Amino acid sequence: MNIYEFDTVILGGGPAGFAAGIYAARGAVSTAIIDVSMLGGQPSNYLELENYPGFLKIGGYDLMEKFEEHADLFGVEKFPMQEIVSVDLLSTPKVIITKEAEFKAKTVIIATGAKSMKLGVAGELEFIGRGVSYCAICDAAFYKDKVVAVVGGGNSAVEEAMYLTKFASKVYLIHRRNELRADKIVQERAFKNDKIEFVWDSVVTQIKGEDLVNSVVVKNVKTDEISEISINGIFPYIGIAPNVEYINGQIEQDKSGFILTDETMKTSIDGVYAIGDVRKTLLRQVITAAADGAVGAVHAVKYVEALKEVTV
Ligand code: NAP
Repeated sequence: MNIYEFDTVILGGGPAGFAAGIYAARGAVSTAIIDVSMLGGQPSNYLELENYPGFLKIGGYDLMEKFEEHADLFGVEKFPMQEIVSVDLLSTPKVIITKEAEFKAKTVIIATGAKSMKLGVAGELEFIGRGVSYCAICDAAFYKDKVVAVVGGGNSAVEEAMYLTKFASKVYLIHRRNELRADKIVQERAFKNDKIEFVWDSVVTQIKGEDLVNSVVVKNVKTDEISEISINGIFPYIGIAPNVEYINGQIEQDKSGFILTDETMKTSIDGVYAIGDVRKTLLRQVITAAADGAVGAVHAVKYVEALKEVTV
């Protein structure tokens, strides 16, 4: 097993991780980013962003390519496809063990982001890849001229529902309230889209099918009426949960698992920072993830410098 040593190891190569990489490497500390898959994080799956300053419209993947190019320029070392098995954040140095390698670091910046939450209903897990998908941009083309449902009322649900209308003949948007959470501008576009039919005040109780999904059972939460809608695919977009399984209780987290930090992005452990969607924060956007990365990395660099002064 390869053993690597860096001043700063960043866990996660999304916008927060890349921004932290750029700031740490510019602060002249040796810096690595490791990621469980290819680098780019959640925005790589976003069709388009129109709220990242400086880009009127840019594909999520294209923006992440630019982040990566920028980190490359400053010599950040990248380790994709590294599944974290365990971490010891209290030891000196801090240790991260992946299936392929061991990393030792003076500071660790956690930027492992968040993942799609599951509906937790019968049929959901059974039909993943056979009609249940959490990534419209990846799978929409399979639903040309077919009928699909999207669940949720946030930006993701509404934006992805609109994207699906480019392929599907009809998109049901099933939401548990009668008001969307998505930004107003996004809502207005969706209301004008003839292919979207809103199923208000309703929750999914079951996803049914044989080889492939063929219907969804929904319950109206106001009337308790149960109905079954024929569909070929369903895309739950009901929010996110942090990717923190490997932390194993070493750091303070809130009740949903999001990591608690102070305003320098420091966690409950000295020399360990958390940035982006994985931390408890009020806004989860590419711009806030990147800003977290800058703040966290600047303080991680200060931490490394202070350690060096002690050992000189
Ligand atoms: P979100 O904003 O948390 O919305 C989740 C939606 O799912 C809410 O409408 C919620 O209903 C519903 N929901 C939650 N649990 C449910 C359950 N068990 N059953 C049925 N419905 C449930 O999540 P998101 O849309 O994934 O967005 C996450 C973050 O990323 C947000 O901050 C969002 O603004 C951001 N984002 C930004 C962009 C962009 O700027 N282009 C794009 C995508 C996402 P209630 O409304 O009733 O709570």
